[in-house]
Amino acid sequence: DTLQADPTHTGAHALLSSVFGFDAFRPGQEEIVDAVIAGRNVLAIMPTGGGKSLCFQLPAMVRNGLTVVISPLIALMRDQVQALKAVGVEAGALTSGNTDEETDEVFAALSENRLKLLYMAPERLASGGTLPLLRRANVSLIAVDEAHCVSQWGHDFRPDYLRIGDLRRALDVPLAAFTATADEETRGEIITRLFDGQTPETFLRGFDRPNIHLAFAVKDQPRRQILGFASARKGQSGIVYCGTRAKTESLAKALSDAGHLAQAYHGGMEPERRRDVERQFQQEDELIVVATVAFGMGIDKPDIRWVAHADLPKSVESYYQEIGRSGRDGAPAETLTLFGPDDIRFRRTQIDESPAPSERRAADHARLNALLGLAEAQTCRRQTLLSYFGETSAPCGNCDLCDSPPALFDGTVAVRKALSAVLRCDEGFGAGHLIDVLTGTMTDKVRQWNHDQLSVFGVGKEYDKRQWNAVFRQMMGADLVRPNPDRFGALFMTEPAMPILKGEASITLRRDTLAKAHKGPVAKA
Ligand code: ADP
Ligand code: ZN
Repeated sequence: DTLQADPTHTGAHALLSSVFGFDAFRPGQEEIVDAVIAGRNVLAIMPTGGGKSLCFQLPAMVRNGLTVVISPLIALMRDQVQALKAVGVEAGALTSGNTDEETDEVFAALSENRLKLLYMAPERLASGGTLPLLRRANVSLIAVDEAHCVSQWGHDFRPDYLRIGDLRRALDVPLAAFTATADEETRGEIITRLFDGQTPETFLRGFDRPNIHLAFAVKDQPRRQILGFASARKGQSGIVYCGTRAKTESLAKALSDAGHLAQAYHGGMEPERRRDVERQFQQEDELIVVATVAFGMGIDKPDIRWVAHADLPKSVESYYQEIGRSGRDGAPAETLTLFGPDDIRFRRTQIDESPAPSERRAADHARLNALLGLAEAQTCRRQTLLSYFGETSAPCGNCDLCDSPPALFDGTVAVRKALSAVLRCDEGFGAGHLIDVLTGTMTDKVRQWNHDQLSVFGVGKEYDKRQWNAVFRQMMGADLVRPNPDRFGALFMTEPAMPILKGEASITLRRDTLAKAHKGPVAKA
C-alpha cells in the first residue's frame, strides 16, 4: 500500500520531533537521512545553515552501534555534544579542548558501549591508539563534516583528513560525507580519497521547486478567500490545510455546499475513514481534501495542482513541506497561505504552553519569526524562502510579490524608535513589552523596571499595538532584531541595524500590513 509510510520513515519522523523538536524536515534532509539509515555511502552537499548535522545525528540514533563524526571545528563539536546530551543522547568528543575528566568519561562510555556519537578532530586519527580503540567500539557509521577539507587544492586542506580513507577501509562501515562547498573538482577528490573512487549516493540538489507559484495573503474573510481560490481551480486536486480539526469539517462542508467535491481529514477520524479519503484522493482527479497536518505524509500523488493554507503553518519547514506536495509532476501548481494576527497569537501560545524546555521554545519562536518574515517579505517570495535554507537565487517571476510588488513606505523613523527601545531596555525584553513602552502603556512590568522613565516611553503613539507588531515583524524579517534564545526570546539588535539606528541608512516597510484593520463584515472561519 503506497499510502502507508514505512517503519524507518515513521521512526525518523518520531525522533525528529521528540528529540530535535522540529515539526518537519528541511529540504533535502529526509532523503539524506533515509540513505544514511539504510547504510549507503553518501555524499551530501548542502548550503551552510541548511541543517547538515541532523543528517548524521538522527541516523546515528536510529542505527545500532557507534557513529564516529570527524570534524575540524572543535567549538562546533563541543556545542553539538552538549546539545545532544541535553536531549538525552549519549555523545562525546575527543578533542584537544577536553579536560582529563571529559576524556575519561568518553572512554568509560565507550568501553560500556553506551556511546551513540563520538566526535573527533582529524588530528586524532594520527595517533596510534585511535584505530584499535575504534575497532573495539562497534562502529557502524563514519560521518565526515566539512568533507572538502580533504581537498589538497582547497583553502581548507587538513592533511589528517587523508587518513579517513584508511579508517573507513579498516572498519569497513558506511561513510557519509557532508560539505557546503564542493565544486566538481573537489567532489571528485572527496570521492577518490574518502570513498576509494566508488561514487557514493550523491545529494546535490537545489531546493527550489520553480513550478510552484507562491502567494501569501492577510486574512480578510478567510472562508471567502479559500472558496474563491478553490473555485478558480474547480475540478483540480487540491489540499486545504487548517489549524484545527473542527475547521477541516466546517470548511469541507462549505466547499461541498459550493459544489466542490471535498472531504475533511484529521487525526481524530477513524483510521478506516482516513484510509478511504486517502484512497479517494489518490484515485480521483478533482477531490479537495481539507486537512490538518496529519494529511500528506506518505501521500504520493504527483498531480496535486494546488495547496492552500487556511491558517498559518507552524514553521518555514512545515510550509515548504506542505506546499511541496503540489506539482510533483513538474507542471504548474499554485499555493496560497493565509495569515492574520490570530494565527500569530495562536502559534505563539502553542509554543509558550508547550512542555518543551525554554531554549527550545525560544528556538521555536525564532522559527516562527522567520515564517512571519516570509509572510511579510517585500521582494521575491521565493528568494526569501530559499535564502532561509541557505540558497541564493534570482527573483523568480513566479510568486505574488514578483507578480505585483507591494507598496512600500519609508519606515526609518519607526524602526529607529523601535531599535532605541530595544537598546534602552537593555535587549532584555520581547516585542510585547517594547510595544508597551513605545505606546506609553503603563503595565506592571513597565512599572517594575521603571521603563516609564525612559526617553523612549510613549514616543511611538502614532501607531497602535497591531501596527507596531507589524513593524517588529518586518524588522525580524529583515533580521534587524532577533530573539535571543538565551534570554527567553528577548529581542536584541543585530549588526546590520546599526547604520539605521545611527541615521546612516534608511529602510522601507510594507504599507499593506500596516493598514488599519478591515472593518467590513467578517465571515465566520
Ligand atoms: P549546517 O548545515 O550549517 O551544519 P546545522 O546543522 O547547524 O547547519 O543547522 C542549522 C540550523 O538549522 C540549526 O539551528 C538547526 O537547529 C536548524 N535545523 C536543522 N534542521 C532543522 C529542521 N528540520 N527544522 C528546523 N530547524 C532545523
Ligand atoms: Zn518571486
